[in-house]
Amino acid sequence: MIALQRKIAILGATGSIGTQALDIARRYPERFEVVCLTAHSSADKLFELVREFRPRVAALETEPAWIPEDVRFCEWVFGRDSSARALEFSGADDALCAVVGIAGLRNVWTALACCERVLLANKEALVTGGELVMARAREMRRTLLPVDSEHSAIFQCLRAREGNPVRRLVLTASGGALRDRTAKEIENASVEDVLRHPTWRMGAKITVDCATMLNKGLEVIEAHHLFGMDAENIRVVVHPESVVHSMVEFQDGAILAQLGRADMRGPIGYAMGFPERLPYGGEPLSLTEVGSLTFRAPDDARFPCLSMAYEALRAGANAPVVFNGANEAAVGEFLGGRVRFGEIARCVRAALDGVARREIRSLDDVFACDLEARAFARKFLGGRK
Ligand code: NDP
Ligand code: MG
Repeated sequence: MIALQRKIAILGATGSIGTQALDIARRYPERFEVVCLTAHSSADKLFELVREFRPRVAALETEPAWIPEDVRFCEWVFGRDSSARALEFSGADDALCAVVGIAGLRNVWTALACCERVLLANKEALVTGGELVMARAREMRRTLLPVDSEHSAIFQCLRAREGNPVRRLVLTASGGALRDRTAKEIENASVEDVLRHPTWRMGAKITVDCATMLNKGLEVIEAHHLFGMDAENIRVVVHPESVVHSMVEFQDGAILAQLGRADMRGPIGYAMGFPERLPYGGEPLSLTEVGSLTFRAPDDARFPCLSMAYEALRAGANAPVVFNGANEAAVGEFLGGRVRFGEIARCVRAALDGVARREIRSLDDVFACDLEARAFARKFLGGRK
């Protein structure tokens, strides 16, 4: 039985997902007690949130020069892996893992040990540590609730399965900010162009990933782990309206879809309130306003990162870790204005070809391989500035 008021930890509280989750917590104070808030280095933002939500514990990776008097009532944790360490003694029932990148893997790992439910936004944790994370979730008998909108949609559709086998999962993709650009325009797209996402407002890293369509590749790997589907049975369709959030196809050809506005508070609220649906305050979706829904096949020639994700998933072993690590490094360089947009896809391609295949048996293997991929990417990109 779900307790009436749940103690929730928000890891990555200052980010796009974190702040939207806190909007929901703010709306339902009787449902959520926020016991832990963490961030990387946005100290002032976190202080504000701590003043408002009064958690038991808060954490920052980068220790600030000074902690204001009025936020000293809670325990503070600083430095490496501070989010995971804070979570350990927060007493949270649920942890929303919304740190960006592989930096969030340790949090997911810790959350599976000490919380009943893990609300997973941090897709890179599953891409890099998928088998280990899923095995731990099973072993610890934890509920893993997807927050990514596509996976939330599939999770919701699967609840109507009633024991029937699934033929395939169909992930929808907006196509990102460069969806209708030519190959030449894509090659030289500026940071500003790339961050102008047509339908979703998100953090910078994932917005770049949408523009390369590598995000959809991460989501294919995420779906493979969450729902136990092979690469062959996970399809992607470009759906510019972002109204159908994803679909499940059954053996009789019937397709169930979940529809909604392109508002992440929908899937975040669904995971937070699960199994109850909590209205998050958004306007209802008007299908007559939307008018028509369109779907098309992804264009591999302009967006090669999606098929690289399938390749990494099929190759297994450390390939998904290399895929992710090279991308994180390349996106950082692009956002820093040091390399052209087109280098991201070339860097990921080179890393998949150039980093030797190794088995992944532990979390340490994941982190070691991530470092190897980043070192490879830095060297590759260093020669191309
Ligand atoms: P943001 O960049 O907006 O926020 C990231 C958050 O993580 C910030 O609070 C940041 O703190 C914190 N953070 C970053 N690194 C660390 C670290 N090493 N230790 C502790 N905290 C850290 O990202 P998003 O909210 O957009 O995305 C979060 C995750 O959710 C990603 O994995 C993304 O793929 C996934 N996701 C996001 C969606 C969205 O709509 N935004 C949709 C679906 C999935 P600080 O502010 O100090 O830097
Ligand atoms: Mg998504």
